[in-house]
Amino acid sequence: MLFPLIKDILSLSVDSDPQDSRELKVRGWVRTKRELKNLVFVELNDGSCLRNIQCTFDRSGENTAESVLEALETLETGASVEISGVLVPSPAAGQALELAASFIRIIGPAPAAARPGIPAYPLQKKRHSLEFLREISHLRPRTNTLAAVARVRSRLAFGIHQFFRENGYQYIHTPIITASDAEGAGAMFQVTTLDLEALSKSGLPVDYGKDFFGRKTGLTVSGQLEAETYASALSRVYTFGPTFRAENSNTARHLAEFWMVEPETAFAELEDNMDLAEEFLKFLFTIALKDCGEDLAFFEAHYEKGLIKNLESLASSQFSHISYSAAVEELEKHAGAFQFKPFWGCDLQSEHEKYLTEEVFSGPVIVTGYPKEIKAFYMKLNDDAKTVRAMDVLVPRLGEIIGGSQREENLEKLETRMGEMGMDGENYQWYLDLRRYGAVPHSGFGLGFERLVQYVTGMANIRDVIPYPRAAGQAEF
Ligand code: ATP
Ligand code: MN
Repeated sequence: MLFPLIKDILSLSVDSDPQDSRELKVRGWVRTKRELKNLVFVELNDGSCLRNIQCTFDRSGENTAESVLEALETLETGASVEISGVLVPSPAAGQALELAASFIRIIGPAPAAARPGIPAYPLQKKRHSLEFLREISHLRPRTNTLAAVARVRSRLAFGIHQFFRENGYQYIHTPIITASDAEGAGAMFQVTTLDLEALSKSGLPVDYGKDFFGRKTGLTVSGQLEAETYASALSRVYTFGPTFRAENSNTARHLAEFWMVEPETAFAELEDNMDLAEEFLKFLFTIALKDCGEDLAFFEAHYEKGLIKNLESLASSQFSHISYSAAVEELEKHAGAFQFKPFWGCDLQSEHEKYLTEEVFSGPVIVTGYPKEIKAFYMKLNDDAKTVRAMDVLVPRLGEIIGGSQREENLEKLETRMGEMGMDGENYQWYLDLRRYGAVPHSGFGLGFERLVQYVTGMANIRDVIPYPRAAGQAEF
């Protein structure tokens, strides 16, 4: 039998069910120890919820064993312990229940002062900066903030599977090692077993035919192309897995390794795709509000005022829509507000996305019809032959959270576009086959999972919503 979690213990009701006033054992890590005359209060947390369980010891109690007094004396923040006692209504404000404790055993101490070979436990009871916590990423889940992020992240991940399952989508596992560059952005990490040192000494040209896979390969930047093949057989599919981009952008919303959710839907056009994206995001906001209320209240109090209201209003509002051309016109009217002057043909910068969502629409907006030059090769060309059926979902504060499109299903047009972009069609024959045999209109999008977690928690830096962030110059742990 697994040990009871503090979250479950705290949801018991001693008043209505005297059965619950029984001897209980709790385990966890000590957050604080306070003393008041003969009473010792130990706040215990096991990460199952934000709240601690307060365990109250009476040192003057007749039955209080010597070993308990000793343990209480040496107990320090961060130690792991087992405590037994009786669950009782708490006289203290802010909590319904506490443990009238009689026994404690220290499982693993966490010294607050350095000892030979063991530096002091770094997470003492005080506020630590998020930057400092990143340096101890292996211990930071023991803080309220990182534990709350982990719980919300986990709930959202499950919510993603729930949403797609309820809507008839099959979960597909696409490869991580790939020979095709889906975004054509040239930001791939190379995967090789060639001996680079020996090669560079030899001065010979690299022969990828001799590499492990017999060709040049890299870590995937998107599972989309492979997802398209399965959507062209199972109608509705999605992938959800790690994605890699060797982009050297040191921003608060880019990682070199991040998780992406990519639904791909057959017999769906751009409008269906937009509706799906909106419904999907609202579903996830609703789930977070319903199941992560305590953690969201924490983020609201400590990180972003108005977070909960904002999520509530998003969950029930309608997303705005605007074409890229109209958006650029709007931005040009306020060109003075920007460092990067907007013009038709430019990629929307983060300051532009902020302006559209925060000033123009005061909420999420879906921008469609981007110039083909700034989008990937697979997007369906509009009749104007200049723009593609792309859709980016922008949200206040963060900018782009979803990027998607209807895919070009016309073989000739797709081949022309690939030629224009200097792509080697040989590598994509399998992808082109989808346009040769049983082609259907189809659409999909990619949601950056960490950006979603950032949005829901209000965390400003993407490095704080993934356990072990990978970015340029950063791969510790
Ligand atoms: P951006 O312009 O913000 O760099 P992108 O246009 O390169 O995004 P896409 O290729 O459309 O992004 O990827 C789909 C989604 O994946 C994006 O909407 C975003 O949520 C997420 N994403 C893209 N790059 C990263 C990254 N380096 N780190 C984290 N998430 C990312
Ligand atoms: Mn990018």
